[in-house]
Amino acid sequence: MSTIEYNPKSPHAAEFIHDGEIRSTLEYARQMRNDRELIEEILLKAEEGKGISHREAAVLIEVEDKEVEERIYAIARKLKERIYGNRIVMFAPLYLSNHCVNGCVYCPYHAQNRTIPRRKLTQEEIRREVIALQDMGHKRLALETGEHPKLSPIEYVLESIDTIYSIKHKNGAIRRVNVNIAATTVENYTRLKDAGIGTYILFEETYDREAYEKLHPTGPKSDWAYHTEAMDRAMEGGIDDVGIGALFGLSNYRYDLVGILMHAEHLEARFGVGPHTISVPRIRPADDIDPKDFPDAVTDDVFRRIVAVLRLAVPYTGMIVSTRESKRSRELVLDVGVSQLSGGSRTSVGGYADEQDMENVEDSAQFDISDDRTLDEIVGWLLELGYVPSFCTACYREGRTGDRFMSLAKRGLIGDCCAPNALMTLAEYLEDYASPNVKLLGKNMIARQTQIIPSEKIRRITLKNLEEIINGKRDFRF
Ligand code: SF4
Ligand code: SF4
Repeated sequence: MSTIEYNPKSPHAAEFIHDGEIRSTLEYARQMRNDRELIEEILLKAEEGKGISHREAAVLIEVEDKEVEERIYAIARKLKERIYGNRIVMFAPLYLSNHCVNGCVYCPYHAQNRTIPRRKLTQEEIRREVIALQDMGHKRLALETGEHPKLSPIEYVLESIDTIYSIKHKNGAIRRVNVNIAATTVENYTRLKDAGIGTYILFEETYDREAYEKLHPTGPKSDWAYHTEAMDRAMEGGIDDVGIGALFGLSNYRYDLVGILMHAEHLEARFGVGPHTISVPRIRPADDIDPKDFPDAVTDDVFRRIVAVLRLAVPYTGMIVSTRESKRSRELVLDVGVSQLSGGSRTSVGGYADEQDMENVEDSAQFDISDDRTLDEIVGWLLELGYVPSFCTACYREGRTGDRFMSLAKRGLIGDCCAPNALMTLAEYLEDYASPNVKLLGKNMIARQTQIIPSEKIRRITLKNLEEIINGKRDFRF
């Protein structure tokens, strides 16, 4: 009998991601899934926008009643509309290197894969990638790299971040670099913070320790506790925006949903601020990886429910979906909670600059892309659906991070900045990168949306800035 007790404030992974608490939560949810009184209480609480606990979320993921399911979606939609309006923040991943010492069985970069071409970008190659990304219109990147202490040490990552921020090509600029690298030390997190990163992102893959250890048989990542405590070290190192996530389909999705929420509750309990973002990737085919080997793969319907329940549980946490998802499934989850999308992505090392050598490049991809539309096509599609694609990076550049950001968000004040910032950054995109059709759609959207900015002062400044953008000025923000 285990003597480890559940303690959300503990610095030890086994105590804050407590297996016994997760299993008893799942059992509780199974027993209560038809309890109308309890479900009603949870839905009313969710509607207030103050979040629901991991136990309450577990009940909502189990509910079978169609009418209740529709109410979950309706509340998720309402919360999303209230907090994020119709804005969707755009970003792109940038892969630096696919050399990796780990043995993750679901990833083609695992060390034992001898068929995948290996590559590490030089600083000159990074320049080419960044220029290609700037020419698409991107302002916000997520840096990705395999774990390799010799070939991709922290110094390489820091130098690459400097290179990325230094490149100013035409009107382009990368204004926020989020970083997704392997779990590391407090000291290295401080160095990343000092290099000016936005969010530090690390997925737990699966919160189920037993499954985790089977899926990560070799390499430093096989240490579940070290990996699970990474966000604690990141926060101790001074990074206050962290992004968590699970790779849905690796293990039981109910377990992972509860795990994500317990992780969020832990960060809130220990550091006073929960995760800035949650990512919800799903298992995808890739070189050496067949999704059929993963019997827990989640269906579109389950995936949508997961996103909606997360939106109810952590209303102020951004939710990210990548190009692993198809256009159709992205549409389904945009509606119930997703607030950030990648677009025009290449998941291979050197994939943006090497378009002419596509065959070679795609061979080195981390996963197959389901949504292979260009950024311009995605911007146009979002506009047609009534969303405002946003290239905003203002908060982190204005020092609105961590608990400062959350306190503004929870008081409903961040929307006053997001709406005009979205319109101004969209206007920059339209002037510099959009096709004629997308430009027209975007201009109409901006004309409509500026009318409904509630504060007269902000509306006036926004209109003036929009004029200036047409006249060639850039980088306005609230
Ligand atoms: Fe390496 Fe990350 Fe792939 Fe694991 S998931 S093999 S750590 S690149
Ligand atoms: Fe995000 Fe802040 Fe920009 Fe709003 S104003 S979109 S919260 S960076």
